[in-house]
Amino acid sequence: MEGDIKSMSSPLLKLKNFKIKGTIKFGEEVEEEDWEPMGPTPMPKVPTLRKWDFRLLKRYPPFYMPICDMCCLCTFGKCDLSRGKKGACGLDIKKQQARIVLIACCIGAACHTAHSRHLVHYLIEKLGKDYPINLGNNIDVEAPITRTVTGIKPKTLGDLEKVLDYCEEQITHLLSATHTGQEGDYLDFESKAMHAGMIDDLAREVGDIAQIVGLNMPKGDEDAPLVDLGLGTIDKNKPVILCIGHNVVPGRYIIDYLEENGLDDEIEVCGICCTALDITRYNEGAKIVGPLSRQLMFVRSGVADVVVVDEQCIRTDILEETLKTGAVLIATNEKMCLGLEDISHLSEDEMINYILRNRAALILDEEKVGKVAVELAKIISKERKDKKCLPDLNEVVELAKKCTECGWCNRVCPNSFEVKEAMIEAKQGKFDKFVELYKKCYSCGRCECECERNLPIVSMTTKVGEYFIKDMKFKIRAGRGPIQDVEIRRVGAPIVFGDIPGVVALVGCSNHPNGEEEVAKIAKEFLERKYIVVASGCAAMSIGMWKDEDGKTLYEKYGGSFEAGGLVNVGSCLSNCHITGAAIKIANIFAKVPLRGNFEQVADYILNRVGAVGIAWGAMSQKAAAIATGVNRWGIPVIVGPHAAKYRRMYLSDGKDFEVLDKRTGEIMKIEPAPEHLIVTAETVEECICMIPKLCMRPNDSPKGRAMKIYHYVSVYEKYFGMMPPDLEKFVRTEQDIPFMIKDKVMDYLKEKGWKPREKIPKEPTIIY
Ligand code: SF4
Ligand code: SF4
Ligand code: SF4
Repeated sequence: MEGDIKSMSSPLLKLKNFKIKGTIKFGEEVEEEDWEPMGPTPMPKVPTLRKWDFRLLKRYPPFYMPICDMCCLCTFGKCDLSRGKKGACGLDIKKQQARIVLIACCIGAACHTAHSRHLVHYLIEKLGKDYPINLGNNIDVEAPITRTVTGIKPKTLGDLEKVLDYCEEQITHLLSATHTGQEGDYLDFESKAMHAGMIDDLAREVGDIAQIVGLNMPKGDEDAPLVDLGLGTIDKNKPVILCIGHNVVPGRYIIDYLEENGLDDEIEVCGICCTALDITRYNEGAKIVGPLSRQLMFVRSGVADVVVVDEQCIRTDILEETLKTGAVLIATNEKMCLGLEDISHLSEDEMINYILRNRAALILDEEKVGKVAVELAKIISKERKDKKCLPDLNEVVELAKKCTECGWCNRVCPNSFEVKEAMIEAKQGKFDKFVELYKKCYSCGRCECECERNLPIVSMTTKVGEYFIKDMKFKIRAGRGPIQDVEIRRVGAPIVFGDIPGVVALVGCSNHPNGEEEVAKIAKEFLERKYIVVASGCAAMSIGMWKDEDGKTLYEKYGGSFEAGGLVNVGSCLSNCHITGAAIKIANIFAKVPLRGNFEQVADYILNRVGAVGIAWGAMSQKAAAIATGVNRWGIPVIVGPHAAKYRRMYLSDGKDFEVLDKRTGEIMKIEPAPEHLIVTAETVEECICMIPKLCMRPNDSPKGRAMKIYHYVSVYEKYFGMMPPDLEKFVRTEQDIPFMIKDKVMDYLKEKGWKPREKIPKEPTIIY
């Protein structure tokens, strides 16, 4: 900027006739003021939102399920915390469980923050700090979580760095609270866990926005392309590169190299877990093998010639398993070096020669991975042409004959699958039970480790599955990223008043017995009932791995818009942020709740008005603990599968004494328990399905909206349990809430229960008072 200024005055300074030469950078604060006045809690520190957390925790107190009553975290111990005893530091079992939950949430948040830091750092290096964050014409509220939590409206990649600085600082404080002799109250541990969960949300939003703009992934595209999914879509006659993990960058260079060299049709690039989802967001030609639960089976099958691993949810014995098949492995991320030699400084040709000699290496320069993986795949596929990795069916029979029927496999299987019975049947050359095992098994390999005859149970199961289940070709809609503002405008009112009965978000892994089928069953049930179904990560894949009688997947049957009856795949685990983001955008775009640094008011709005529920069906990592606890802080309930009891903590209400302030009248009043719990376990898929309509109820539902939700609650209960919901009377506020089609039977039921209508219903419910 250059020029003459005649006069200028400010509260601090008066100037006349002066020259400006050089650059004047206007402060961020001045620029930031443009969009919204700052709210009360920008960049909240660990205790800033404690009051909000305590409000939630009072209504939904933690319920602990210790799976171990010893603590051995420091050398004062190990300490026995059973039967009311305290450890040497004074910690009791309740505080210890809460501390473990906080540690898990910190690990999850650190994992996503580090992932996002890597992406942002990489993209800034390639595109510059000033690269704009532009999600297209249909998305003005580009980063609802970032805006609400930090008060920053990110305009460039450089702005995202500030958000990550904040995340990293908070995680350090939170983790330090878990040190011996720090936090000493279980509710404060829980409040900190909620803070860690919120940081996790924030970091995921940063990472996903960065990769959407920097790698040109779909920007809220309702018609994102249908892409291939499933083992059967991989052409085994071609060289195959398998990418496992969550970080798309190495896969991006593999795709680029193939395109630049006209090799797209000659080499198969496929992926497992979120890396797969994100590669297909980058290029629809890539293929998704399936979720995490198929990892060991697919590697054992020997289809891959080159295995490229990046970060998160990769088997830590992946090197050993890959080498057994004669394939080679490239590690590409500092979080998983696997003891390998770092050859990043070598030229690509030198790298290829090194890996041909040593079969595996660490390459941290991801750009080089493109050429190295592709050229290696060409060579290795020829070398492995006749390599047999799985036993053939006759060998499966012979191996089964060695089984002593000791039953250890059944005992150690986390799901108590009948491995022994499959072995006994296979001795006779029959495989029905093995086929069933294949469908359910999530290839953890624990049965193999315990087998006294060292039988390769996972390999045997994989062979039988591949032989008998031919049709393993599916379609999934590529992850579309955020929900458009215009979609929010369309559905805001129907969701808030209950006319759209709810938003059902299926997230996380489906590594649960029958997990793939069950997740698809849940999605189908609520799509048919015109809920909005949203999915991400492995759950999004599982939904695609089920076909109807016409051979169609749910993605082929239902559109990808965020609307009643829409099936929205937002993308990978990072993209989960767009589900919370949609709830925040409803508060902002539809109800004009300001976002900037205004966490409590936004979360209060969601808790009382946005009928959304998350479902995480499989057993999963610390990331899932952080995700669930984070969305809880935003006021969104979560249902978890039976394995999630191992997270040790639920947030359950007793269904009584729910109170809100009606802002319209200024009166505090008793209300129905809506939503009844914040995080709750369902033992079966049927139980889960029946909880969903209930957890979508909100105090703000209009009578018409509540009647619709009650209709679905009654009808799923009757469908799956053949009876009326045993707690229905809690949710019927007045006769107006009773759906016309089932009025008589509901009234009969209510009479039996001695139900009385509520005298007052809040018009503007809030728990902030
Ligand atoms: S942290 Fe406390 S309870 Fe745990 S081992 Fe140390 S002294 Fe015992
Ligand atoms: S690999 Fe499958 S059958 Fe074996 S223990 Fe794991 S889940 Fe059970
Ligand atoms: S652990 Fe091995 S030997 Fe024992 S029943 Fe299972 S498969 Fe057979």
